[in-house]
Amino acid sequence: MTSADDKDYGLSTLAVRAGHVRTNEQEQSEPIFLSSSFTFDSAAQAAARFSGEEIGNIYSRFSNPTVRIFQDRLAAMEGGESCVATASGMSAILATCMSLLRSGDHIVSSSGVFGTTVNLFNKILSRFGLETSFVPLTDYAAWERAIGPRTRMLYLETPSNPLTEVADVARLSELARKHDCLLVVDNCFCTPALQKPLSQGADIIIHSATKYLDGQGRCVGGAVVGDQQRVGEEVQAFLRTAGPTMSAFNAWVFLKGLETLQLRMRAHSDNALALADWLQHQPGVTRVNYPGLASHPQHELATRQQSAYGGIVSFEVDGGREQAWRVIDGVRLISITANLGDLKTTITHPASTTHGRISAQEREDCGVGENLIRLSVGIEDLADLQADLGRALRPA
Ligand SMILES: *Cc1c(COP(=O)(O)O)cnc(C)c1O
Repeated sequence: MTSADDKDYGLSTLAVRAGHVRTNEQEQSEPIFLSSSFTFDSAAQAAARFSGEEIGNIYSRFSNPTVRIFQDRLAAMEGGESCVATASGMSAILATCMSLLRSGDHIVSSSGVFGTTVNLFNKILSRFGLETSFVPLTDYAAWERAIGPRTRMLYLETPSNPLTEVADVARLSELARKHDCLLVVDNCFCTPALQKPLSQGADIIIHSATKYLDGQGRCVGGAVVGDQQRVGEEVQAFLRTAGPTMSAFNAWVFLKGLETLQLRMRAHSDNALALADWLQHQPGVTRVNYPGLASHPQHELATRQQSAYGGIVSFEVDGGREQAWRVIDGVRLISITANLGDLKTTITHPASTTHGRISAQEREDCGVGENLIRLSVGIEDLADLQADLGRALRPA
């Protein structure tokens, strides 16, 4: 299948076929090229490859055939011209900022982004002259007020972690156009199986492939998707030189993950909706956050913007940290781990884990209370998940 054909195929077809051009071995499954470097027919060919006169593999920091299949497949699924794979989700964000911004530029980010992303902006990029302002994800007037003459990038996650707030991507893309900023969307929670922000006006998509793209909790990786100039040239040039590239082995695992992405996202979403609805009626649960619930403040927007609501549910219990920890310690089936996007259901206390290294003020700004618990709902039997949580929620 050549990339020229991609636009004619549906997402399920792209997920299992895009990007793979068979080698002379006529393999049916995508091959892993575990080779750090590639050979040349002659010194002249080596020179031509290095000068860029001839396109081809040189070294796996620059390009690798297995990584390329993953990149081409994810680009096709997101509807982007180009994708570059990275060693982790964080290095995808770092590579995007280092490639597309300059010292003195300003970022406006939603305050509810992944905790490490807040630290990357505030503690590392700030030392290189990049300043970041944080605004509530769904306060569009606050976004506009925060934009100044040096603002070059608007950055967000939707739905947000762990509160599952949903932002109107098309509306923010109009704001980005008006002020000549890039709109960068971390599409980790929905993946292209549930929403395609590029089609709603986003410029750049960030992925932590560690989560749903893998889907089985095996490898750490990331990706940046967007247009050929910014991603294919500029982000790629940064990665090739600075080095946080994806390994061929991990790319192969993620490729296999992409093949079942739609089936898994549908199963995660079905289980999460049923569990969120059930949680609303459990004693000791004071609030449930899930975009699929009619009680969610952006339920209507989520229904319009996404094809399903995803696997992340968070809820508050009556009390504080002690009560939240008691519920977490009470589960027997569900795994206590901070990772998400796994087929196995996971449970975590954001305030002391994923959001533990940001300040108490930053936690308050993004609404992560001590009584909040996050679930990444897997594909186990719903009745078993209900029994496990039901037991954990029973008063001591
Ligand atoms: C996990 C995560 C990241 C960071 O990805 P890593 O692969 O852990 O580096 C970024 N954004 C979101 C929304 C995440 O959940």
